[in-house]
Amino acid sequence: MGLYDDEWRRLHQVRNRLILWAGLGLLALVAGVLWLDAQDWSGAERMLTSVAGLALWLAGLSYFYFQLMFYRCPRCKGLFAARGKEGRGRSWLPRARCGHCGLGTDSEG
Ligand SMILES: [Zn+2]
Repeated sequence: MGLYDDEWRRLHQVRNRLILWAGLGLLALVAGVLWLDAQDWSGAERMLTSVAGLALWLAGLSYFYFQLMFYRCPRCKGLFAARGKEGRGRSWLPRARCGHCGLGTDSEG
């Protein structure tokens, strides 16, 4: 048992949800295209439904993404995604180490 086990579990949970949501979105996209094709709808109705579905997926994606990007380091409480010690500049991809104190994910403390 490490000192930050709970925090890492939470971080992995958020990351897994993001991956799951992205994957489900792709499946929903394929299913949605097939479903829309089978409907006897006008072009405007199809367009509106597509845009609404896409907006919903992007909203969920941003929600999980920002949870990951604004994840705070369990040791120094700084933003994990920040690049420098000053916290300026941000990495747009999840990082393996804290940008402030260098704590690695899954390290025991
Ligand atoms: Zn830190």
